[in-house]
Amino acid sequence: MKFNEPEHISHPVVYDPAVFKKEKEKSRKLRSSAWWKKKRSSGICYYCRKKFKPADLTMDHVIPLSRGGTSSRENIVPCCKDCNKKKSYLLPAEWTEYLNSLSGENPAEV
Ligand SMILES: [Zn+2]
Repeated sequence: MKFNEPEHISHPVVYDPAVFKKEKEKSRKLRSSAWWKKKRSSGICYYCRKKFKPADLTMDHVIPLSRGGTSSRENIVPCCKDCNKKKSYLLPAEWTEYLNSLSGENPAEV
């Protein structure tokens, strides 16, 4: 039997600064794209489904870059400042709870 497996590291972090930088750069470019402007012009927050002024919506990565998410269009959604703020301090499990507490509506699939 081998005992050299580091079992206490149950959540290996896949974090490559070079990839992170590239994805950040990609999202920066997407922010000025027609695709994003059109998406944001709906004024609907992806999470709480409330209506906002397009200028009040921020760009959010559903799966954060720091958790292996990418800047693909599927992973980027418009999000109001309230949700953005909440999301940034909640753990993923708590965030899911928060979403479930919002009128029971599931975020629409894009
Ligand atoms: Zn919201």
